Amino acid sequence: MQLEIESRKKAQQELHDKVEHLHTTLESLPQVAFRADAFGRVTFVNKRWFQYSPCPATFPEVHPDDTSMENVWTDCIDSSQPMEQEMRIKEIKSGLFRFHLLRMIPVKNKTGIKSWVGTFTDIDDQKQEEKRKDEFLSIASHELKTPLTSIKAYIQLVERIESKQTESAIATYISRAHDQVCKLDNLIADLLDISKIENGKLKMNKKPFDMEKLIENVLETIHYTNNQHDLKIERQGDPIVKHVNGDAFRIEQVLINFFTNAIKYSPKADKVILHTAVKSNEVYIGVQDFGIGIPEQKKDRVFTKFYRVEESSVQFQGLGIGLYICAEIIKQHHGTYGVHSTLGEGTTFYFTLPIS
Ligand code: ADP
Repeated sequence: MQLEIESRKKAQQELHDKVEHLHTTLESLPQVAFRADAFGRVTFVNKRWFQYSPCPATFPEVHPDDTSMENVWTDCIDSSQPMEQEMRIKEIKSGLFRFHLLRMIPVKNKTGIKSWVGTFTDIDDQKQEEKRKDEFLSIASHELKTPLTSIKAYIQLVERIESKQTESAIATYISRAHDQVCKLDNLIADLLDISKIENGKLKMNKKPFDMEKLIENVLETIHYTNNQHDLKIERQGDPIVKHVNGDAFRIEQVLINFFTNAIKYSPKADKVILHTAVKSNEVYIGVQDFGIGIPEQKKDRVFTKFYRVEESSVQFQGLGIGLYICAEIIKQHHGTYGVHSTLGEGTTFYFTLPIS
């Protein structure tokens, strides 16, 4: 009996020490930290908590436009998985909402979840920095667009006058200037698209369109803009006879982007293959190249903003925004997109669009 009491006391002391240790750790963190029981009732808070909440039992006030704490708890308890959520919480002293990253980690024992450990990390400065960068991008691209439009118009005017005379050196220079201005125009259009995405203003103008006609236009554009003359574009798969509902201008932009990349990132190859397939409820379009390929672990990141694969970024110029815009366009069409690639052998970028 005495032995049993002793061992129970020892176990209790050990548990107490562990909890103490956890609380000391939470107290030493630079974040707001807390512990809650399996039902989401707060059992411990560190000192920083009081910058955002007057008492341990109340969670900091969350911005009305963000996910509420009740919803976060419901998700946590339902999933029993670690969770991350960005939200704005109100600082008591300033009365201002600051962006925080809430992380919740379940603490499990043999029978299931015993408690949760949570932290709020202040990411407000980072968020404000991102916002300033986006605003700068938006203003800069708008400001660049206006003078460029008039330069383009003047070049076209001179081109028209000059083309009346036969093959002069000046006509060649003007044509080159025109090409470069068009490149600049495309870059600025991409930058403008980025700021539209950030502001939720990249709107699709959807109506039924003929995909084969679109493909024809794209191939013609690629033919005129591609300076690798010996590159062939093959076609494999079914013709897309059904009309697709979408923004033809934006889908054309995606396909041109896939082709431009396929050509740019396969300087030694002599062909690119366009794959098309029609299933009962979707169309598939893929562009396959035989170029440098993408390392396996970097494949999924190519669709994120400003991402460029380091290995190739020195050799090939770019801003790392084309695929990000493509992904957004396809998402807005409720389609899917992706990439298959083998390093040194080639890459296929594809998208699918629903047909209904
Ligand atoms: P950019 O080409 O201007 O850098 P993108 O958003 O179009 O920007 O592409 C992002 C990155 O993905 C590129 O920098 C490149 O590293 C990689 N990438 C895109 N297309 C291909 C391709 N066909 N083959 C190999 N790498 C590619």
